[in-house]
Amino acid sequence: MIPSQVLREKLNSIDGKDYAACQALLGEYNFKQYSLILQQIPKDPYAPPHTGIYRIQLSRSDKHVINRQVDSKVAEIAFRDFLTRNFYQACLQISKGRRGTGNSGIITINEPGQIIIERNCVVLTAEMIEVRCFIGLPADGRAIKADIAVEMIFGELPEIISRSLFADNVDQDALDRHINTAEDAHFLRDRLPAKNLVAFIADEAILPRESGSSDKPLQSAQAVPFRSPENLRVEFKLPHAGKIKGMGIPGGITLIAGGGYHGKSTLLQALQAGIYNHIPGDGRELCVSLEETVKIRAYSGRYIIKTDISPFIRNLPFRKDTSAFSTENASGSTSQAAGIIEAIETGAKVLLMDEDTCATNFMIRDQKMQQLVHKEDEPITTFIDRVRLLYHEKNISTILVLGGAGDYFEVSDIVIQLNSYIPGDVTEKAKKIAGDSPVKRIVEDSGYPYTIRERVPLPESIDPHNEFGKKGIYAKEVFRLVFGKSTVDLTDLEQLVELSQTKAIGFAIEYARRYMDGNATLREIVIKVNDDIDQHGLDILSDRISGNFARFRSFELAFALNRLRGFDVSQRLK
Ligand code: ADP
Ligand code: MG
Repeated sequence: MIPSQVLREKLNSIDGKDYAACQALLGEYNFKQYSLILQQIPKDPYAPPHTGIYRIQLSRSDKHVINRQVDSKVAEIAFRDFLTRNFYQACLQISKGRRGTGNSGIITINEPGQIIIERNCVVLTAEMIEVRCFIGLPADGRAIKADIAVEMIFGELPEIISRSLFADNVDQDALDRHINTAEDAHFLRDRLPAKNLVAFIADEAILPRESGSSDKPLQSAQAVPFRSPENLRVEFKLPHAGKIKGMGIPGGITLIAGGGYHGKSTLLQALQAGIYNHIPGDGRELCVSLEETVKIRAYSGRYIIKTDISPFIRNLPFRKDTSAFSTENASGSTSQAAGIIEAIETGAKVLLMDEDTCATNFMIRDQKMQQLVHKEDEPITTFIDRVRLLYHEKNISTILVLGGAGDYFEVSDIVIQLNSYIPGDVTEKAKKIAGDSPVKRIVEDSGYPYTIRERVPLPESIDPHNEFGKKGIYAKEVFRLVFGKSTVDLTDLEQLVELSQTKAIGFAIEYARRYMDGNATLREIVIKVNDDIDQHGLDILSDRISGNFARFRSFELAFALNRLRGFDVSQRLK
């Protein structure tokens, strides 16, 4: 290890030189209480941050360094998440930010959002805590500015480290709260099946968000805390929070009705976010859903590859085969059908749908339309006639937001009505209305089974190389992944929340190729990738160390693959 003084001297010696001279700084430097590894430095100050690798290592046996016994995976992830937030905040407070061209002067780390999740910007081993951050070595044009670099590395960085990672400066109570919050949510999610529940929303939870573009809680005094309807109220005893009450949603078909602007979509969004553990203060700390909960929506224009959508759609014009349906440009209904089939294929247990993002002609054909257009002329068997069989045959529950189609009363087990954001159980009333109604729509389900054809990915259809023949996998936005020559539109994967998840998925697609042997199914492959990450951590996804990955579910990996144009599979009958 090189003494830190040498780094200072090296910096001074390259002052004013061309940026290329930064490469001379590569090395492992000893800073008494930590070591700083400058492992890879971008070739120019404009290069995207992920092209640099900067690692800080602290010994866990140093009593100045924050440490905490973590004896479960959940606690370990929460501890790492906490340190990430501490470091991120300290960067905001201490780093003087951009000074010079491009990313000059910036010190930062992967920005964390509202969820407690595994990321590889902070990793723990038995001996040490490692933080992977970004240090934008400063330049004016391409001329290195050594004085600022010295200030960053010898002034700001040590202070950031001390403020965020040294025991004396860390709020131990906040750390405890962080870990306890994650453990409680995990415990709650884990206990759902024993009560035959698929989701739970705690009383007093704050579901609405600040805005459509912010995942932070709505701060205003107008945020109405959640209150469970008596009939659906259940109680849990949590390891830290003790006894809590809230609304339990049982397996089966649940309809969420209510007038426009009464909070239906907000409730559904809390359920779709319930696959994650949330940070203290989020408002949704005790809102959980089964991990296998998948938001389904229509998204016309998407790519579909050899997907068996025949359970919903048959006899398309020109006899296009729907048991191996492919398109470069899906319609609303075919995209929604494919979304459901892909979810079944990957092991979903709960589907969430919102009228705001569903294809109407996929959801229902009402009695008048049945008279006008005969079933023989309608390729779609609408979801209303398929939803019960999905539950009976596959044990897949559905939670549905629909404000305008009372025909769903008949197929629902529970009907919840939101009234000024407060839910009421109106099942009995809805069933009575359904029973009293003189006109009935014809049930169009033929009992066509959900035994869908398995798909076996073909490795040669996946190529991470761009038009220059270089590996090109990156993302600058959560819902847009660049993979080789393709840009994968992930807009309809609403359960993705952090950019680093998208980046990890990009690398996971390439990683998954090793398991594509012409025999393994898509589901088997994504599970293997997931198992590998469980065992070895996110670093396994890339041969280069990175601090830009966050955990994703096997669902999102499979769904991203399904949207990668050019991805190909062969079908196999079960
Ligand atoms: P719907 O889907 O029933 O039309 P939304 O869920 O879109 O209604 O909610 C309408 C508006 O009300 C949104 O701006 C949302 O943030 C807000 N809102 C939802 N729930 C609450 C609540 N519990 N307290 C305060 N505002 C809420
Ligand atoms: Mg809505």
